[in-house]
Amino acid sequence: SATPATLSAISNGANNGVLFKGGAAMEALSTMDILFSDKTGTLTKGEFEVINYQIEEDYLAEVIYMEQQSSHPIAEAITHSFPEVDLSNVNMTEPVEEVAGTGVKKGSLIVGKPSYFENYANPNNYQPDDGETVIFVGKDNTIIGYFSLADQIRQEAKRAVTNFKNSGVDVQLITGDNEKTAKIVANELGIEHYHANCLPEDKINFVIDYQSNDQVVGMIGDGINDAPALANAEIGIAMGSGSSVAMESADVVIVKNDLNKLYYSYELSNRLNRIIK
Ligand code: ADP
Ligand code: MG
Repeated sequence: SATPATLSAISNGANNGVLFKGGAAMEALSTMDILFSDKTGTLTKGEFEVINYQIEEDYLAEVIYMEQQSSHPIAEAITHSFPEVDLSNVNMTEPVEEVAGTGVKKGSLIVGKPSYFENYANPNNYQPDDGETVIFVGKDNTIIGYFSLADQIRQEAKRAVTNFKNSGVDVQLITGDNEKTAKIVANELGIEHYHANCLPEDKINFVIDYQSNDQVVGMIGDGINDAPALANAEIGIAMGSGSSVAMESADVVIVKNDLNKLYYSYELSNRLNRIIK
């Protein structure tokens, strides 16, 4: 069981908004060689704004209903952007399925990331600005609409990333979002290595690969798509605003989403390891 020094570090962490589920995670944090970080909702606020969209009214109602069943930050944005749309004609007995890291599905309707629709006919030619995230609505092998959204980088993210890098932690971005947006966020934060278009199994594979190379791997994320990687990482870290599956799978929860509090905990762990060794 945990030593008094470890318990005291855990309680210090808790007072500073970071919950450790046990002594092992507190002791391991400062030994971390690599920190994989999710993008959306983790390095960014996950508070999207709908910039542009095009879809027939009936299908807009369907999409809103579908996204009401999802906890993804994009879903939140879509459900809150169209309060005036009437949902009374939507067939609500048909189940909505959330496809982790991809989108949502209801019967033949699918809403989600463009790469999912590679074999669909696409009559749209919307050209998003750099950094926008586009999602498509597809039905019967045709794209019938799109939404374009933008998010913002968390104001404290750069400092937190810089601190971890200066402490010798290799910070890498790992996201389900597109290449362009991943690159912009990585550049902005001074992250050299980024991996875009990752499915949940890709995230887990990165964690496992590095672990098999004797690296202590941390993974931070907020979504259901991150949960398997969080569960497998030596130190799984979830954002407090994240989905409940992410928080359940993690060893550490950043209650108020402040990434600098994680770095503060890293320093606590450092000090702790100097005491107990
Ligand atoms: P990240 O890894 O950056 O957190 P996610 O893996 O959560 O991103 O999502 C990857 C992509 O999947 C999003 O950029 C979006 O295109 C799509 N997506 C996921 N969930 C939804 C949803 N509920 N509605 C629409 N698109 C979604
Ligand atoms: Mg995310």
